[in-house]
Amino acid sequence: MVEKGAAPGGTGKPFAQGLFGLDCNDAVHQLYHYLDGELTEERREQISVHLDRCGPCAGAAHFEAELRRVVASRCKDRVPESLIRRVAAAIDEDARRGGPGAFPEGSGGGI
Ligand SMILES: [Zn+2]
Repeated sequence: MVEKGAAPGGTGKPFAQGLFGLDCNDAVHQLYHYLDGELTEERREQISVHLDRCGPCAGAAHFEAELRRVVASRCKDRVPESLIRRVAAAIDEDARRGGPGAFPEGSGGGI
């Protein structure tokens, strides 16, 4: 007889694996989807409950959310293509002038 979901010897920790169908590994793993809003209501609920009770995971979530916010606000079409090319060209130029053999010529240059 195999009982699904029954943790073997589940004693001690109040927040052991399986309590909300989610352990820390799982929570962190799903964090990205959570922040992307790609999860089902149920899943989001599970994670939010987990984050509510689990300091380390909450910290990770907070950091990740903050990081996304910063990246989103910085990268919002703020950098024109022309500038990117100029910077890339400048770096290329610099490498060619400053250090012989810093970059092998003619290699790469895709984007
Ligand atoms: Zn956790």
